[in-house]
Amino acid sequence: MARVPVAEGIFTWPSDDPRLIGSRCAACGIVTFPAQGACPRCASTGMAEHQLPQRGRLWAWTTQEFPPPAPPYAGPAGEAFVPYGVGYVELGGEVKVESRLTETQGLRIGMDVELVLVPFRTDGEGNEVVTFAFRPVG
Ligand SMILES: [Zn+2]
Repeated sequence: MARVPVAEGIFTWPSDDPRLIGSRCAACGIVTFPAQGACPRCASTGMAEHQLPQRGRLWAWTTQEFPPPAPPYAGPAGEAFVPYGVGYVELGGEVKVESRLTETQGLRIGMDVELVLVPFRTDGEGNEVVTFAFRPVG
């Protein structure tokens, strides 16, 4: 089974040391995720690719107890759905990223978390589609 990323340009792929790919404004320094072509703060178009730190801190979280509306959600539904954590992770004091979490229990605001790539679904060609998530460190 081949592994494919859920979308191009979201995280480094393939990589043994995955990083989320954001962008940084050369004019004002703001960092965005996902990457954007124009700065949301100063409207500069001088946005450069900026790989985000692999580790961060959990800023807020909840659990997704039922499948989100589809589309855009394209993951398992019905009996195949498994509840998952979702949260905001602060990375390097630069940016907060909304992400899936590997756990639904034992989460605490402020805990250290790290980026991992996890199976999300199987596509129509039998490929394992991989997405990103954060898991507690330690
Ligand atoms: Zn800017």
